[in-house]
Amino acid sequence: MTNDELLTYDQKHIWHPYTSMIHPSPVFPVASAEGVYITLETGEKLVDGMSSWWACIHGYNHPRLNQAINDQVKKMSHVMFGGLTHRPAIDLAKKLIDLTADNLQHVFFADSGSVAVEVSIKMALQYWAAQGNTKKQKLLTVYNGYYGDTFGAMSVCDPVNGMHGMFSHMLAEHIFVEAPACAEGVAWHDEYIEEMTNALHNHHQEIAAVIIEPMVQNAGGMRFYCAEYLRQLSRLCKQYDVLLILDEIATGFGRTGTLFAYQQAGIAPDILAIGKTLTGGYMTLAASLTSKKVAQGISADGRGVLMHGPTFMANPLACSVANASIDVLLASNWQQNIKHIEQQLCKELVRCAELDVVKDVRCKGAIGVVELHCPVDINWMQPRFVELGVWIRPFGKLVYLMPPYIIKEAELNKLTQAIYQVLVEFNQQLRSSSSHFF
Ligand SMILES: *Cc1c(COP(=O)(O)O)cnc(C)c1O
Repeated sequence: MTNDELLTYDQKHIWHPYTSMIHPSPVFPVASAEGVYITLETGEKLVDGMSSWWACIHGYNHPRLNQAINDQVKKMSHVMFGGLTHRPAIDLAKKLIDLTADNLQHVFFADSGSVAVEVSIKMALQYWAAQGNTKKQKLLTVYNGYYGDTFGAMSVCDPVNGMHGMFSHMLAEHIFVEAPACAEGVAWHDEYIEEMTNALHNHHQEIAAVIIEPMVQNAGGMRFYCAEYLRQLSRLCKQYDVLLILDEIATGFGRTGTLFAYQQAGIAPDILAIGKTLTGGYMTLAASLTSKKVAQGISADGRGVLMHGPTFMANPLACSVANASIDVLLASNWQQNIKHIEQQLCKELVRCAELDVVKDVRCKGAIGVVELHCPVDINWMQPRFVELGVWIRPFGKLVYLMPPYIIKEAELNKLTQAIYQVLVEFNQQLRSSSSHFF
């Protein structure tokens, strides 16, 4: 098939994320990727500002990660995890236990972030059931969250923003309170957590766990919040005997400047979900870690087992590349790299704030966000970014960057320049169409 034939076939037969088979969204065929560059079949080389949905932190085609997969594939690509085990999984479990909070001592390997969230929720519900507490069956969470697309995960995603509105009548009903609104570096007021406190006070007898993304709400709005909120939340969860589930699928492994975002608050969750970055963006793998209290509590009656077991659980190729990715990260100057990225993002994106269409510009770690007053026209903006030699995929009102940590100053500059230029053009379009923003 020629390039055009490939594309036609794709548009006719293959769903892409959140797309329609009647009005397929345009896609760009990729031939290869190396370092921070994605090369299209048509020859253009794009600087990657997305890390392929935030996962590919070391860039593409990394020799150490390639080697890990090559070495493992010669031994075994996969064996079932029921009744069998293997070194890559044990090595990875040990790494994760050593790197995370002291209380987290048990690992469940899942095959995607959404599944890790499902398993985390199951852990919490099963824990209380095994304690003989049949009342604690609800979750408490905040608006603007995103935890994945499966039914359990959907039930805690933002009901409006979370892309799952049409399923609302068949989702478990949980309790939502306002999203954290405290900016970092601003004085703390107890009002910031008042709704959460009231919800815990009034409903703790029916709440199994609080689930939240620490420090950054990601796909639900790219919102940053202060560490004090997490400290207060952790204290409240203990006070009201409610488990705390932290979803670090997006923030884990350095993205916000610390290895895990919860470390900025000096707290420890009862259950921790990780994914995306776990394999350096090479393969699909996620995990839920939990404490001895929860792990043993699930089997408190001596018989209870955690009711989950994916076919490809702890896939050896994925575990091997995850081990290599963690080694590469820890051997690098990741803290310094992320600090530099943060400084450059802040410095270079700030001028976007001059544009009328821009509502807010914010940066944290290797995340730079330009929030607009209105949603972008992706079918115009996406090809425009490609013309400018960058891969940036806005969603809704957000144009943002989450580049690989290895990005160099000139490459990052190309990304921020492209955002500024495209937003200047977008601003002009809105002006000439005398949009209601002006
Ligand atoms: C992406 C994401 C998920 C879902 O992960 P998948 O691998 O896409 O299922 C869950 N939580 C957060 C915070 C995420 O960013």
